[in-house]
Amino acid sequence: MYDVVVVGGGPCGATAAEDLARSGYKVAMLDREGRIKPCGGAIPPRLMQDFDIGEDQLVAKVNTARMISPTGRHVDIPIENGFVGMVDRKDFDPFLRDRAVNAGAQKFTGTYVRIERDTAKNSRSIIYRDKESGEERALETKLIIGADGANSRVARDEIPGGDKVPLVFAYHEIIAAPEKNDVYDPVRCDVIYDGAISPDFYGWVFPHGGTTSVGMGTYVQSVNLKEATAALREASGLTNCETLRKEGAPIPLKPLNKWDNGNDVLVAGDAAGVVAPSSGEGIYYAMICGRHAATACAAALKTGKIKNLTLARKLFMKEHKMVFRVLGQMQDAYYKSDSRRERFVSLCHDVDVQKLTFEAYMNKKLVKARPMAHLKIGFKNARHLLGLVRETHV
Ligand SMILES: Cc1cc2nc3c(=O)[nH]c(=O)nc-3n(C[C@H](O)[C@H](O)[C@H](O)COP(=O)(O)OP(=O)(O)OC[C@H]3O[C@@H](n4cnc5c(N)ncnc54)[C@H](O)[C@@H]3O)c2cc1C
Repeated sequence: MYDVVVVGGGPCGATAAEDLARSGYKVAMLDREGRIKPCGGAIPPRLMQDFDIGEDQLVAKVNTARMISPTGRHVDIPIENGFVGMVDRKDFDPFLRDRAVNAGAQKFTGTYVRIERDTAKNSRSIIYRDKESGEERALETKLIIGADGANSRVARDEIPGGDKVPLVFAYHEIIAAPEKNDVYDPVRCDVIYDGAISPDFYGWVFPHGGTTSVGMGTYVQSVNLKEATAALREASGLTNCETLRKEGAPIPLKPLNKWDNGNDVLVAGDAAGVVAPSSGEGIYYAMICGRHAATACAAALKTGKIKNLTLARKLFMKEHKMVFRVLGQMQDAYYKSDSRRERFVSLCHDVDVQKLTFEAYMNKKLVKARPMAHLKIGFKNARHLLGLVRETHV
């Protein structure tokens, strides 16, 4: 009998399993493995601090973010006093899983099939298909954490609304990185706001050392993601680089209203819809969710009060609700048309905007220190959205 079975061993599940094992609980971590998670791999310094991630996990350190507008104008935002780290999920996820196992979690490789309950005995088991034998097996447990990513089977089976998370469809190609040239820089992330690439999200070129992730996302199902990525590669001078992998996955962009079933299941990370609007950043939030899910399960196990499972969402929202709200408003305001995208890139020229957005990304804080800057940004925002500012071309 396990205390907790964690379904999914990505950043969220591996963190939850590690935290619970370190606290002395009997934990099983089930992951189907065999597929590298499609991901741009950008992580903020706060993640490295909070989760003790060494620089040896990084394949690149980025010192500039280039925002590119529909007309091809760009703003380079320097990343002062630090860098954005780039991880390769091929290595990062197994590293996190190994860490959980070293802390005492038991790892199982296979696919979650269903939960079976015996109400008379007040017991439940995760039924999974073992990868090696192909047989169905059971893991009996007190509690379950569903950290099985976007389109989570556990959320769909157990959580009201778990099947109704709005999804951005994202696709990227991993290519052999070119040498540094006029358009490509191995220490710069390019973020492309252009309706021809994505009508409602953005495209990106993220350096990964020897390779580069080039991709885009959109809510619009009729958009041909491969054609959009080909156009992005051409616009970025990357058409002739060797293509190593092509892969896509959904990104959920709205946290569920409820993360637990009031009984024995809690979902977290992508499975709970927790990815930041505007940016699509999900690795840090998945790990924080994993940590809060572990805390909530530990509280429920210790007190016998199942309502403690609600702690996971509460703790997360206390710290991040405001950032998610602001990023959601930004996406609603600026990702709708090329004229708004053009204005958004103009707004990025403002040093205060740069400081605020980078503080929010790097350290997960909305800085309150400069009230005049907030006022100025609010005013600029309003003028941009009302179309009172004429574009200046640089
Ligand atoms: C193209 C793309 C680019 C992205 N770029 C970035 C970026 O640059 N930076 C960033 O911060 N975020 C990025 N994200 C988002 C980020 O990848 C996710 O938010 C993050 O991986 C979520 O972690 P997770 O542990 O919740 O889920 P996942 O990473 O999806 O992990 C889920 C785990 O569950 C396992 N699993 C799934 N189903 C089952 C099952 N039925 N049985 C057993 N195991 C199962 C999977 O094998 C996987 O290991 C990107 C996403 C996409 C799609």
